[in-house]
Amino acid sequence: MKDNLQKIIEQFVDFLMPALTPYEASLYIFFLRNSHIKNNSPEIRIGKRTIAENISSVRAITTNYAQVTKLVDGLEGKGCIKIGDTNRDGTLYNIFLPEEIPSVKEKLAITADPVEEDFFTNPEKRKEIFERDKYTCFYCGEKVTPENSTLDHLVPQSKDGKHTKENLKTSCLICNSIKSGKTYEEAAPYLLKSIQERRNKK
Ligand SMILES: [Zn+2]
Repeated sequence: MKDNLQKIIEQFVDFLMPALTPYEASLYIFFLRNSHIKNNSPEIRIGKRTIAENISSVRAITTNYAQVTKLVDGLEGKGCIKIGDTNRDGTLYNIFLPEEIPSVKEKLAITADPVEEDFFTNPEKRKEIFERDKYTCFYCGEKVTPENSTLDHLVPQSKDGKHTKENLKTSCLICNSIKSGKTYEEAAPYLLKSIQERRNKK
């Protein structure tokens, strides 16, 4: 189990975490902890209110029922979980290990060195990334506009992050300025705070 756990953590941090929003990452860890790791079972039945309480205590922020619904839908959309039936005791969720998740499989399969391309000076190349990301900010999930869209290095250039398609993400200017020069882990608390402040203003 120990070796297995190490593999799960490595695959999560290296391959899955970059594809999740900070909130989704928190929920996925919570699910893994309470299914595979705690009960050695790939599934968990739990109510959304219990999830909200747990996420809130971990992140020291309030999470409500509607947000949990959005998060579980997001995780299902990214192939991390499968939502089952709901009864009196809650909803059944099948939790997939990182190695079972399509986007992680894809990354595990890539062995060649990534190709660096001229995404910053070539507008057509920039557009490829915006289109891949559906013109949505990777960090806050809001749609970007021609005025506030930019490309962000997920692994910062100061930490050897490259100009590769894998490492470049569509970002709004606000998130980009917060993330700037930081790793995703370093920036996550500041991003969350800013996302929450912007939501409260709406
Ligand atoms: Zn943003």
